[in-house]
Amino acid sequence: MDAKTYIEETKRIWQEKYVNEPEFMQTLDEFVDSIVPVLERHPQYIDHNVLQVIAIPDRIITFRVAWTADDGSVQVNTAYRVQFNSDLGPYKGGLRFHPSVNLSILKFLGFEQIFKNALTSLPIGGGKGGSDFDLKGKSDGEIMRFCQSLMTELQKHIGPDLDVPAGDIGVGAREIGYLYGQYKRLRGFENGVITGKPLPIGGSQARTQATGYGAVYFIDKMLADKGQELADKRAIVSGAGNVAIYAIEKLEELGAKALTASDSNGYVVDEEGIDVALLKEVKEVKRQRLTAYADQRESARYYEGSVWHAELTADIALPCATQNEIDEQEAQQIVANGVKFISEGANMPLTKAATDELLAKDVYIGPAKAANAGGVAVSALEMAQNSARLRWSFDDVDQELHDIMDAIYANVSSAAEEYGFPGNLIKGANIAAFIKVADAMIMQGVH
Ligand code: GLU
Repeated sequence: MDAKTYIEETKRIWQEKYVNEPEFMQTLDEFVDSIVPVLERHPQYIDHNVLQVIAIPDRIITFRVAWTADDGSVQVNTAYRVQFNSDLGPYKGGLRFHPSVNLSILKFLGFEQIFKNALTSLPIGGGKGGSDFDLKGKSDGEIMRFCQSLMTELQKHIGPDLDVPAGDIGVGAREIGYLYGQYKRLRGFENGVITGKPLPIGGSQARTQATGYGAVYFIDKMLADKGQELADKRAIVSGAGNVAIYAIEKLEELGAKALTASDSNGYVVDEEGIDVALLKEVKEVKRQRLTAYADQRESARYYEGSVWHAELTADIALPCATQNEIDEQEAQQIVANGVKFISEGANMPLTKAATDELLAKDVYIGPAKAANAGGVAVSALEMAQNSARLRWSFDDVDQELHDIMDAIYANVSSAAEEYGFPGNLIKGANIAAFIKVADAMIMQGVH
């Protein structure tokens, strides 16, 4: 079968099968369009039906999480673990706690994770999990009991050489600590079973910073490739979580100015550049809303709504909030603001129409699979330190992260060039990652 027919047939099957999984279908669509020239050049991928095989997870575990609230009432949530692909190593990927969590979202994230993890060149497969649990308004005790209940079931399905969860939206070092504590009570000491742990209990230096720092190292490479540098660039950043905070920190360390941060209600614009120490105090220590940042800083103003509607003069943008945070109209605003470079700290932050609009206006896009791979890369380094019973210094991990991001950029941009899409890093990332996973899959026989 020729590549075009194979892809058409595959898309037809998917469209029927995944009508009720819009985010998963969106990621499949975006992916498959990049792969046409690869299949044309390597018919063995068609012979092995790699595309259709790879789109179905190895398994999905769905389970109930019942827990007791502070008022004594029994609450219940649904949790999932999508063990998507283990051709390159144990399943690896975060847990997301957010009311929007459903299987379509976790399958999209798990699918992306397979290829993101492949781009790190470290031995990790792809997985993702989470729950529709809403952290908003929950006490620390409630969060702890929820995490313990979730792990009481999840521990049956994970292990340091089987499946290694980590954080994602709503899951930071506090939640990882509670999850790990429960695993240890039930299964004993195996600290490589989960990553993103707090430092005293086996976490890695620079893991907290890794996704944000990595997204900045990546955009630094993109700029350098076009003869520009990060110093003095004006940046729009969305989000106020772990990714955004450390992207802002690194941007400012390298001489750029981060103008904004956002949460689900609104955003702050700070013409002096975001004060990272204050942002950390508000978000990490006091767990407050961003309005508290604006209240304490004269140069900042708080606005309701999406930061991507803001009229601001800027050179670069780092969406670090969530999937589909930028639609076509917002993409037009980004272009009108003067942005020429985007590094995706969040997973799939652009809708398809937004991506098309930005590419048509020659905006250089660093896709999530490549640009935010720093987080999971340092997770893999945490696993390595755990199994070696060693600890590396902050500078050693940060240097390794920087080298990994540079290598990913080189790999992705040369794959784009080689397969006829020079300068399209979205296609380059899909192609480079697909080849790694598909080859590994074929080497291990039909399964
Ligand atoms: N949730 C992060 C991601 O989207 C990190 C996953 C991990 O460290 O395993 O890549």
